[in-house]
Amino acid sequence: MQSVIRQDNGWTVSAGYQTDHFDAVIIATPTHAAAAVLKAADENLARNLSDINYSSSVTVTLGYDEKVRRSLPPGFGFLVPRSEGRRMLAATFVHNKFPHRAPENRAIVRCFLGGARDEQILQSSEAEILQIVRAETTSNRRPQRRNLYSPASTNGSPPWPNIPSATSNASNASNPCVKNFRLGAGRQRL
Ligand SMILES: Cc1cc2nc3c(=O)[nH]c(=O)nc-3n(C[C@H](O)[C@H](O)[C@H](O)COP(=O)(O)OP(=O)(O)OC[C@H]3O[C@@H](n4cnc5c(N)ncnc54)[C@H](O)[C@@H]3O)c2cc1C
Repeated sequence: MQSVIRQDNGWTVSAGYQTDHFDAVIIATPTHAAAAVLKAADENLARNLSDINYSSSVTVTLGYDEKVRRSLPPGFGFLVPRSEGRRMLAATFVHNKFPHRAPENRAIVRCFLGGARDEQILQSSEAEILQIVRAETTSNRRPQRRNLYSPASTNGSPPWPNIPSATSNASNASNPCVKNFRLGAGRQRL
């Protein structure tokens, strides 16, 4: 899709090689792409969309045995409060959230790092990122909290780019497009 313009009480959508006319159009691209295609239709909307900042994250997936799986609390995972001073942002208990993705006797924990406040992690090697995750899932400054144990297997994944930063950026927070986006982002479950 290259452009969407208002025409004859509807919308003309051009994909370069082909143009078609529609009564209504739903655009579900990342906001910078939406801004480009809507520029001719509504410059103000396009500017608001392109002002939305994105940040990247890194995921590391850890595999554990049955003993660890039994010791983990129920639920879909956890968020790490900023006051903990750790680089891990959150982790998903994949075996609970998507049970078909893990054997019944294994735990799969997907850890998230990066985001708007730690973009420098994207410069780190996979080995360095794994080291951070191993250290942060096995050290425990508060003894009453449960450690995760050394994982049986690990799998670092490449940076996952382009997440709109809905709440962390002041200009995004006041952007009328982001206010709408936030409704969607609030439904994401880690
Ligand atoms: C690491 C990570 C983990 C996540 N985990 C979860 C989770 O466990 N549960 C959950 O609910 N959500 C999760 N999310 C969020 C979820 O992935 C996103 O909210 C969801 O993918 C957004 O879907 P979307 O269709 O809005 O956008 P996208 O999936 O980004 O789709 C946008 C589409 O637009 C297309 N496009 C771009 N430009 C054009 C153009 N000019 N013309 C035509 N098409 C175009 C792109 O090719 C793409 O296919 C996670 C996100 C990340 C980064």
